[in-house]
This record gives sequence, C-alpha cells and structure tokens, in this order.
Amino acid sequence: EQHGVAKIVVLGGGPAGGATALGLKKLGYQVTIITQPRPFKAVEGISERVLEGLRNAGFQQALANLPAASPRMASWNGETNSANTERLINRSELDRGIGLDLQAAGVTVIDGRVDRVNSNDDGYAISVKTDADADAAAQLITADFLVEARGRSAPGAGLERLRGSETVSLLQYWQGVPCQPQSAAESFQDGWAWMAAWSDGTRYLQLTFDVASANLPDKSQLIDHCNRILRTLPSAEPFLDRAEPSGIIHARTSTPILCREAVGDNWIRVGDAAMAVDPLSGNGIFQALSSALQAPAVINTLLQQPERAALAKQFYQQRVDHLFYRFARIGRDFYASEERWDNPFWVTRRHWPDSEPLHQETDPASLKIETLPVVSNGLITAQEVVTTNDQPLGIWHLNGLEMAPVVRALQQRAADENPQDCLQQALGLNPQTAAGLTRWL
Ligand code: FAD
Repeated sequence: EQHGVAKIVVLGGGPAGGATALGLKKLGYQVTIITQPRPFKAVEGISERVLEGLRNAGFQQALANLPAASPRMASWNGETNSANTERLINRSELDRGIGLDLQAAGVTVIDGRVDRVNSNDDGYAISVKTDADADAAAQLITADFLVEARGRSAPGAGLERLRGSETVSLLQYWQGVPCQPQSAAESFQDGWAWMAAWSDGTRYLQLTFDVASANLPDKSQLIDHCNRILRTLPSAEPFLDRAEPSGIIHARTSTPILCREAVGDNWIRVGDAAMAVDPLSGNGIFQALSSALQAPAVINTLLQQPERAALAKQFYQQRVDHLFYRFARIGRDFYASEERWDNPFWVTRRHWPDSEPLHQETDPASLKIETLPVVSNGLITAQEVVTTNDQPLGIWHLNGLEMAPVVRALQQRAADENPQDCLQQALGLNPQTAAGLTRWL
C-alpha cells in the first residue's frame, strides 16, 4: 500500500533519521531525506547490543564493513577492568552506508545542507543548499510532515529543553606504528578520556570536560593542554607510544539534552534531536534508534487518525522522557562510583538529574491495570496494560500473551487459590505457561 498523499521529509541521515525513513517506507510512505556528511571525522564505540539494534532497524550496507570487536579497557575510581569489547566505528563510513541502505529501500536521498525551514498553512518549505558555493541558489523542497533528525545540530530555539551540565569533548588524531585494535576509557580529575587505536597505527584521543569549570585555554593552547593530561593517564600509554599528533583538535558538544516537546501535529524530533545523552554511556546510537523505531507508528497515527493525535503524542513524549531519565540516572550512578575527586565536574554529575533510584522497588501488590497507548499494527492505540511503579509505561504482552487478563485473574482469585491453578482455570493456560508467568510476576 502506498500512502501517496503525505509527503514526509526527514532532515538528517544519521542512525535516527535513517531508521525512521526505513520504518516509514515499510508503512508505505514516500520519504525524502536531506542530509550532508558530518564536517569532521568522528569515531565511536558500539556494543553488540547497538549492532543488533542497527540490524533490526533494517540497515545492511551500513553494517557490511564493520570491524570486529576489539578489547576495551576501563580505568575508573582507581580500578582497571579489561573484560569488555567494542567495535570501533568510523561514523562517516556508517553514515555513508546508511545512505546506501536508504537508496536501496526507495527513499529519495538529497545530498545537501538544510539552510532554512519555514512552516506555512500547507506544511513546510525547506531551503536546501546542494552546492558547496555559498552564493549558489537554494533548492526549495516542500513537506506535509517534517522529521527533525539533525542530531545535536537540530535547532531547538523556542522549545522547552532540559540540559545537564554543559559538557564538551575535544578530539584529535595521532599517527603511530601499527598496533592491535583496542580502546580504553579512563577518569581523571577534570573529566574522562576515551581512546582508540587501529592496526594501521591511527589513534583517536578524546577528552571530555565541564565547560564552566575546566578553565580550558584558548584554541592555540588546547592541543598542549589535552596532551599534558593524556601523558598523565596510565591507560593512554599504548596510544601515545611512538605516535605523533596528526591533525587539528575538534570540539563536540556532549551536554545531555532532553527536548520536552519532541512531537507536534505535523512534526517529530527523533534521535539526538529529541534527547541527546552523555557519551559516557556509549549508548547514544542505541538511544537514537529507540526513538526512531517508535516514530513511524506515531507519524502514521498523526497522519491517518488525527483524532488520536493526543494519544500518539503522549505515547512518544513519555517514552522519550522515560528513556532519557533512565540513561541519565545510569550515568549519574556511574559518575558517583568515581569517588576520588570533589571538583565541579564530578560533584554536579554525581547528583544530576535527580536522586531517584534507577529502579523503583516493586512487588506484586503494586501491579495495576491501566489503559495506555501502545503500538499495534503500525498505529498507536489505547489498550489495557499492566503497570508497576518501576514500569509506568506498562507491559502489554509477554511472549505474545496479553498481561492485563493475567493480572486481573490473579487479583480476583480467592485468597486460598494457588496462582498457577487460577491461571490454568481462568485463562485456559497450560501448566508450563502458567508456572512461567507466576514466576515472572
Ligand atoms: P547524528 O548521528 O548526529 O546524525 C545527524 C545527521 O544530520 C548527520 O549526518 C549530520 O551531518 C546531518 N545534518 C546536521 N545538520 C544538517 C543540516 N543542516 N543539513 C543537512 N544535514 C545535516 N554513541 C555511541 O553509540 N557510541 C559512542 O562511542 C559515542 N560517542 C560519542 C562521543 C561524543 C563526543 C558525542 C558527542 C556523541 C557520541 N555518541 C556515541 C552519540 C552518537 O553520536 C549519537 O547519539 C548518534 O549519532 C545520534 O544519532 P542521530 O541520527 O540522532 O544524529
């Protein structure tokens, strides 16, 4: 089925814009994506879970040439752990592969810079510069629905946003003798470092600081400042050994940001444009995918069933907020586990975003049945779900079985009735399923 009516334009072709475009295509929409390559070479580490997420989102070419996992060392609070691995990815190559996957799926990909977006009664007029020449005329693209996926560079003026402490990551490349692919993370008094090396001798060195308190020198002195810090870090040694700086230093803002208004009637923000997490989590791409995988059903509902717009928007915003706080609290607890320093970098991050525990204590008595939005057949609908104080968004199914009838049967059973017998009798479940469910609950 082709939904020929709505013209959906996605701004930005990173993992979030790409996954949203693929999802919309599967729902039958015509999708155009406007993107330009990022202006610097970034390297990121991804876990197997992120890789699985990218695969599930439908990316193939993007994953075709990923390097194998390499050892990752972590030095935190004076302790060193080398049990983990990660894949060291070149973001320019990943993004290029995403573009190929989009083209293969029939998405129209425009290579250009989004210059301005104007909204009018008919939707949007997007002016795009496809020529490197700054004076060249812009191309005008119209859209009925806009997906904002330009990552951290998505304009956010006028939107309510929650920001953590202002954070910056300074990155540089070194070139050295060939070595084993590896990465390492290490905390230091004013922040933390992440370093990666490849077999061709390329090294990537990234230091993350607090903008307000790091007393960073001006640009001409930055490299020296970073390199002085790097030389004090024991785990940096293999990365600096027989190697020299091979380029300029580049700054990436890495402040955690939650957009409190991530969806409207004819627009949605996905990925980092909706919520950008602290890179310490190493989960940015995973989080970007999470919102992007939910967005197509939300967009489909806004376009096909506008009477359910409020429900669809509630569904989306709650998930964006929930995930952001979950990762922010994981980050907070990790910062708190570094106990050696009490300067602003560590003190502010140990207490942000709040003092709520990562997981609320929960027990069977806290189970409730509520009617909340869920995704069903590519649309957002209201269904009875089971909530707990730790799972306020609700659980609709477990292994394909609706949970609300299960909890209702258990709550209504006689005081002396065994829960497993109750599920067998009230819902006709086989003994094995009934036993599994009672255990899980
Ligand atoms: P992006 O990947 O940023 O994609 C946005 C796209 O839009 C880009 O291609 C950009 O070029 C394009 N674009 C922007 N503006 C325009 C414009 N005007 N016109 C056209 N196109 C435009 N995540 C991990 O999983 N692991 C890591 O190790 C990791 N390390 C990180 C280190 C740092 C310092 C930072 C800041 C982030 C890190 N992240 C990491 C997070 C990760 O980069 C993001 O979470 C993820 O890329 C977000 O995906 P996205 O699609 O929302 O945005």
